[in-house]
Amino acid sequence: MWRVLLMLLMLTTTARAGEVDRLYVIDCGSAHAEDQSLWSPGVNAGVPIDFSDNCYLIRHTAEGYLLWDTGITDRLAALPDGQTVAPLRQTWRRARTLAAVLGEIGVSPADIRYVAISHTHPDHIGNLELFANATLIMQKAEWDFAMAQPQKPIAADRKTRLLDGDSDLFDDGSLTVLSTPGHTPGHQSLLVHLPRTGNVVLSGDAVHFQSNWDNRRIPSFNFSKEQSAASMDKLARLVADKHAQLWINHDRPSSDSRRHAPQFYE
Ligand SMILES: [Zn+2]
Repeated sequence: MWRVLLMLLMLTTTARAGEVDRLYVIDCGSAHAEDQSLWSPGVNAGVPIDFSDNCYLIRHTAEGYLLWDTGITDRLAALPDGQTVAPLRQTWRRARTLAAVLGEIGVSPADIRYVAISHTHPDHIGNLELFANATLIMQKAEWDFAMAQPQKPIAADRKTRLLDGDSDLFDDGSLTVLSTPGHTPGHQSLLVHLPRTGNVVLSGDAVHFQSNWDNRRIPSFNFSKEQSAASMDKLARLVADKHAQLWINHDRPSSDSRRHAPQFYE
């Protein structure tokens, strides 16, 4: 009996195992802020800063497409002057819609089976409604946090896979979710194994830009300073252990240095 079960288990594992063969970096918005020090308390007060905001389309050979973060809303593509978030003195713009970029790659929103989000801030979940049939993958702690808001950012009846901590998503080591709370209560990052490129960490907003990473600076508006620091340490250990590249989502200079869709990483 046990042997049969074990064989079945091995068969199902084999059937599902695959790898990530493509990762597209998609421009999902940009922002200009008047005062960097909101993100780096006491440093560069009054100095402006530009942010990138990327989505990442991941193709898995067995499971199909997974989209990591969905950027700022596509509606901004129709507003040349963008939209300003007054408390942060930050203006958001979108050069093209996510739907248009996906179309250029030959992917329709319906082709995307999974949407995983780092956290529920608007510049990361802007176009969730485009992928209404995809399974939404996020931390349970972030779901609870989002659903406690007066204006719920996610439809309550969405198909979800709620995680409690780290998770090897498809049991094959290709995509590993890392619990990195602090920016928000259930913030998560994603370790991607690419056959040619190697390991890449998509760190969401665990850190916003390079100098904050180098100096372990934490934005004043983060949910927990202690958790933010611990999550940065966790990522640093992982980056060292896995010889991984850390792709800091909002770091404009490093984002500009990466190839964007329709090009991709393998
Ligand atoms: Zn955020």
